[in-house]
Amino acid sequence: MSESTILGNGTLVTSYSRPSAAQAWVIPSGAVAWSGERILAVGEETELRCAYPKANFLDAQGGWILPGLINLHHHFYSSLACGFDPGMPARDFAEVLDRLWWRLDRALDAETILLSAELSVAECIRWGCTTVFDHHASPAHIAGSLDLVAQAVERGGISGVLCYEVSDRNGHRAALAGIEENLRFLRKQSGHARIRGAVGLHASFTLRDETLEEAARRPAGAGCHVHAGEDKLDGEATRQAFGLGPVERLERAGLLDERCLLAHGIHLDAEDYSRIARHGAAIVHNPESNANNGVGWLDVAKVAAQGCRVGLGTDGMSSAVLRALRAAFLAQRAGRKDPSAGFGALAELLGNNVAVARRFFDEPLLGELAPGAPADIVTLDARCPTPVEAGNVFSHLVYDASEAPVRHALARGRLLLRDFVHETLDPAALAVRARELTPALWQRIRALESGTSFLGGD
Ligand SMILES: [Zn+2]
Repeated sequence: MSESTILGNGTLVTSYSRPSAAQAWVIPSGAVAWSGERILAVGEETELRCAYPKANFLDAQGGWILPGLINLHHHFYSSLACGFDPGMPARDFAEVLDRLWWRLDRALDAETILLSAELSVAECIRWGCTTVFDHHASPAHIAGSLDLVAQAVERGGISGVLCYEVSDRNGHRAALAGIEENLRFLRKQSGHARIRGAVGLHASFTLRDETLEEAARRPAGAGCHVHAGEDKLDGEATRQAFGLGPVERLERAGLLDERCLLAHGIHLDAEDYSRIARHGAAIVHNPESNANNGVGWLDVAKVAAQGCRVGLGTDGMSSAVLRALRAAFLAQRAGRKDPSAGFGALAELLGNNVAVARRFFDEPLLGELAPGAPADIVTLDARCPTPVEAGNVFSHLVYDASEAPVRHALARGRLLLRDFVHETLDPAALAVRARELTPALWQRIRALESGTSFLGGD
């Protein structure tokens, strides 16, 4: 048997959702022991030290000990956009896409795809995320692009569900090439312990009917990751082109099921939400990105009350999941003008991320600190100065933990971050490389025309 390690001296929270009454949720002087990739035991530190007297010890220094965080919607390819000036201010969401994202993605090559992914994975680790759902686009380099993203995830040591963002905006042949890349990657990664595939779709308004039909020929059980109702543009342009709303199109194509992730879900109607709930699909809330793009905010409580499962993502804005949780909480209060809003449905977001992620991996205990679970564990450098108990975990996560740097991050028992220092990736070296490659990337972006039509040509 391989050697065991105890991580202790912290306030341990076993799960992001309230467990059954018989199970402990908060352990004030808690510890977790693991061996290889699996957790052996969770409990009081004194008990674990007795049970595993020869174990190594890792010190949480009085901070939080939590399950590794899960991010349901990210775009690693956005890493080198920070600071880029698209030329003129965007007047609406269509111009944000057209001037920035639909030129950046076309300018990416193999080198910048890999580097962007490595930069984002390093950020995920820095902010305690050990499982991430990425949505990748690089129309000039489609075939094999997911292998490059997977290489970064592999090097970093986290888990990922990766997909290529299929769209007709660069022509139908590019859409078919995107589908083929998703299917190839799904086949290749089938059964992989940490890195899986899904079928990625951009958004209804840039997808032809024949593309949706082709995407629906995916292998049984393959998930679908798509933007829906991010801005009113999606519904308006989709209805104009196809006479149906975005969610209804997905449903008719057979793509709406319990492994379907709908990023944003803001500009949808009651019938759409009831379709989503009926099929057990998930909406992924991205509050920071929504604020940045000025597209409105998702009323999580309202949507959850209609039976939809709502999870949380960062949409390429950052990799900090707990900060996104805080942003979601503040957006809810600001949007509803209600100082009591936010607990309840928002307290379910991180637990919903766990439930959704489990559908993509053969890991019924993923996202939980429990014997037999994958050893995905993070510690936060927060002092927890006030009592942490079952009734106030969410409040602590929002007001305290969301601001705390991550001290240690482990995935499948492997230390990725030890006392704030990366063990698998070197962010300083990645930043040097990024500064070397970015000027040429930005030059390529500026050389590309804007004015991409939503449904392209052949
Ligand atoms: Zn997105």
